[in-house]
Amino acid sequence: MSATIAEPIDIAIVGAGAVGLAAALALSREGRSVALLGPVATPRDGRTVALLDGSWRFLTELGLQDALLEKSAPLATMRLVDDSGSLFRQPPVEFRASEIELEAFGWNVENADLTAILAEKAGAIPGLRLIPGLVRAIEPETGAVRLSGDGFAPLLARLVVGADGRNSQVRAAAGIHAKDWRYPQVALTAIFEHRRAHRETSTEFHTRQGPCTIVPLPGRRSSLVWLLEPEEAEAVAALDDAAFALRVERQLQSLLGSMTVQGPRGKIPMGGLSVERFAAGRMALVGEAAHVFPPIGAQGLNLGLRDVAALHDALAGASDAGGEGVIADYDQARRTDVRLRTGAVDVLNRTLLTDLLPADLLRGAGLLALSSIGPLRRFVMRQGLASGTER
Ligand SMILES: Cc1cc2nc3c(=O)[nH]c(=O)nc-3n(C[C@H](O)[C@H](O)[C@H](O)COP(=O)(O)OP(=O)(O)OC[C@H]3O[C@@H](n4cnc5c(N)ncnc54)[C@H](O)[C@@H]3O)c2cc1C
Repeated sequence: MSATIAEPIDIAIVGAGAVGLAAALALSREGRSVALLGPVATPRDGRTVALLDGSWRFLTELGLQDALLEKSAPLATMRLVDDSGSLFRQPPVEFRASEIELEAFGWNVENADLTAILAEKAGAIPGLRLIPGLVRAIEPETGAVRLSGDGFAPLLARLVVGADGRNSQVRAAAGIHAKDWRYPQVALTAIFEHRRAHRETSTEFHTRQGPCTIVPLPGRRSSLVWLLEPEEAEAVAALDDAAFALRVERQLQSLLGSMTVQGPRGKIPMGGLSVERFAAGRMALVGEAAHVFPPIGAQGLNLGLRDVAALHDALAGASDAGGEGVIADYDQARRTDVRLRTGAVDVLNRTLLTDLLPADLLRGAGLLALSSIGPLRRFVMRQGLASGTER
């Protein structure tokens, strides 16, 4: 039998990953009662996130700019290299932030540092309840949702935000159907020190097995995300640090000179997930609870932060945080942006994985157009950074 529960709070956020923490900071700013449930984990596995311009501005508004600047490197240039061996192989395409009057496309930061910075800020907000236990049961009631779990007394919330990642329990409780798929790829992640300066340039090599991307970090350091077929990924991951660094240096055509691995490395199977709707019955999904795709074009977490911004907007002026208007507005607001980006990343990834001539030809023509047509290149750059919140 559960204990008697006090009055419902306005918002309970399940999941204290980067997106859940950002949601807690953003949604607790307007005097609503907010609780964030779940343990904060900051494991280091060589993973970084490129926070694109819109996310950077959003996190700056939350007062995080100084802390983030210390730990991140600007991305002033992004370079795409066709390394697919295709018949229609094109010369590298370079995008410079200065072409669209920006200092940088975004800033690259270790996942663990970002989460730690968000968690520290969340801990300093009076009135934001941080509950480190896992949520075990989510039960809709009239006018609220009941949450119970490890180490906390059950609570009622008018709105439950599912920031609980790919296997979201909130999504299941809301009865939201998800489509889940796998790619024949595994991502290897690592952080390197290297001899040559990166010149604030990130380079994405498009290979037959997927992209291999190297992204600047502060100093002579960069992070790697390398998508490989599972068997090859296993073989490369089994190399010791020195042999792994040599293999990566070769793959990057010695772009950054000799390299040394810094800290633990990661290995993540690639998949995708999309949902039929983004909110239902007093529950709203944000981050990987609502969308998952491979790390191409630095979109995943950026999209998650835009979910948070859209939910914040949908809540503006609402007397009931989980009322029908908020749920419908949020669902509507996220449809186009999320579907467009999930589709675009999926298509690009699949054209790399196939060696069908039409796909190669299309990709080759696309790259050629990007490198030679300035206005198109600037349009694509703006779309890559677009907030997707034009509603
Ligand atoms: C190799 C790689 C590189 C990437 N690079 C980029 C990039 O450059 N730019 C970008 O924008 N994105 C990038 N992404 C995507 C980005 O990392 C993810 O979108 C983001 O980390 C997802 O955050 P999240 O908070 O939604 O989910 P998660 O980080 O999965 O967090 C979910 C949290 O919920 C908690 N949880 C789950 N169930 C419960 C429960 N029952 N009760 C309480 N808590 C619970 C978990 O413990 C976890 O802390 C990359 C991804 C990969 C794999």
